[in-house]
Amino acid sequence: MDIKTEVLIVGGGATGAGICRDLALRGIPCVLIEKGDLASGASGRNHGLFHSGGRYAVADPEASRECITENGILRKIAPHCIEETDGFFVSLPEDGLAFRDKFLQACEKVGIQTTLLNRDEVLSLEPELNPNLLSAVKVPDGAIDPFTLVLENARDAELHGVKILLHSEVTSLILDGDRVKGAKTKDRIRGEEYTIEASYFVNATGAWANQILKLVGLRIGMALSKGSMLITNTRLNHGVINRCRPPSDADIVVPNDTVSILGTTSIRLEDVEHFEVTPDEVSLLVQEGSKMIPAIRETRFIRAYAGIRPLFLSEEKGDDRAISRGFVLIDHAKRDGLQNLITITGGKLVTYRLMAERTSDLICQKMGRNTACSTHSNPLPGASRPAGLRERFKQFSAARGEIVCDCELVPRKEVEELLGTEKLRDFQDILHRTRLAKGTCQGGFCVYRLLGVLHDSKMLQGDSNKILKGFLEERWKGIRPILWGAAVKEEELIEYIYKGIFNF
Ligand SMILES: Cc1cc2nc3c(=O)[nH]c(=O)nc-3n(C[C@H](O)[C@H](O)[C@H](O)COP(=O)(O)OP(=O)(O)OC[C@H]3O[C@@H](n4cnc5c(N)ncnc54)[C@H](O)[C@@H]3O)c2cc1C
Repeated sequence: MDIKTEVLIVGGGATGAGICRDLALRGIPCVLIEKGDLASGASGRNHGLFHSGGRYAVADPEASRECITENGILRKIAPHCIEETDGFFVSLPEDGLAFRDKFLQACEKVGIQTTLLNRDEVLSLEPELNPNLLSAVKVPDGAIDPFTLVLENARDAELHGVKILLHSEVTSLILDGDRVKGAKTKDRIRGEEYTIEASYFVNATGAWANQILKLVGLRIGMALSKGSMLITNTRLNHGVINRCRPPSDADIVVPNDTVSILGTTSIRLEDVEHFEVTPDEVSLLVQEGSKMIPAIRETRFIRAYAGIRPLFLSEEKGDDRAISRGFVLIDHAKRDGLQNLITITGGKLVTYRLMAERTSDLICQKMGRNTACSTHSNPLPGASRPAGLRERFKQFSAARGEIVCDCELVPRKEVEELLGTEKLRDFQDILHRTRLAKGTCQGGFCVYRLLGVLHDSKMLQGDSNKILKGFLEERWKGIRPILWGAAVKEEELIEYIYKGIFNF
């Protein structure tokens, strides 16, 4: 299977999915290739903060401005991916109020609306907060569902004719003088190799950007920074809680549907494929996080996970938090004389649409086309759909029948509908597209039921014990760092179930 197209986009995170939707809406044929599933990189391993830009207002006003502008646009085009919770920048006694005053001024400069709340006002909204807090500043932060966001961009692109190749990796690039002529690729499930020829190539591989550039002998200055996060068993806060001080470790708790996500750390890494959450990071997150929300010290956690931030180095700086969280768009024609290669990296999930717009504008300019971007006003396909557990609960009725996942109320019917409509290639693809295994038991009680559904639908490819074992091994990576107290007891129960029933 060899393919010819106008633009090949490498990387199926928010940026790559956003670019292929943008180009497709402009009528430009393109293909997206992703080595795993959609959102399997940083786009599925982040905090889920729907930034107001407040976090960067003092140190990085440009990135902050991008966030608040996109915050306004995404509320219109992707309301079903967003929970409008507001956010609070909380000053604790040890933080003092000097940073708060700078923060208020910086927010005003970049256009972020703020409300200063006294101690009692904020405690009435967020009763779990440290009662000794001095004050809080309210900003339009929120929570965003990254999986739905990426999947919906890809779905809309497909509806507009884009071909999306998942579990397929670019392994080399073919040069022809000062142009890239094609990409050699490998299907990681079937092992088949094929070539994709294109007029333009976009490297939207985020933290992997230098691995693609290495294929043509190039490199950009980029640091890789690991950020680790912990998921609580229940939701502790209504809105996003930020510490009102310069960005630092463990200074944010983002609500996410039924849970809260505590983060984050910033640790330099060399290897983008192999990393884990360390015990030191877990201790730091719990210790610092509980200063904002004391209940964190006693809370049960259900999972730990980490993602890699690609930070563009315009100049070497000591602290990774000082490097801009803005994005970089590199035209390799100007930088390296390679006429048809573009790299887009860095940025935020919240700025994915803007990153896609700028990349698509550059492609259009190179093609000599004058087609305007429409993604700022064109809602995603599911924009009228309700989001969140409360809405799922309302939709759920006895008529929906059997439930596969009790924690997240996923009906069997929803899974069967998904299996009937999408070309899923891997077991994890099902988990990415539903709330299965995202709740308190992290799949302990529902994944074997899912295998039953697959078996009944005659869709089980391969040995079910092997699939189950693969899932449990992957799950263990997230469970192991948070095993203490009640979590150990539940894990022992799950171990007995799998040993007793499945003879593992
Ligand atoms: C710890 C952490 C917390 C964050 N928190 C937030 C937050 O709260 N809010 C927010 O707005 N942003 C947040 N971000 C930033 C946000 O996650 C990223 O900016 C965004 O997801 C980047 O998307 P991307 O598509 O550029 O990269 P990615 O999502 O990493 O996508 C790149 C893709 O390229 C694929 N790929 C790599 N090599 C190849 C190849 N050879 N062939 C085919 N495919 C390939 C990878 O598999 C990957 O899926 C956070 C990031 C991290 C790491």
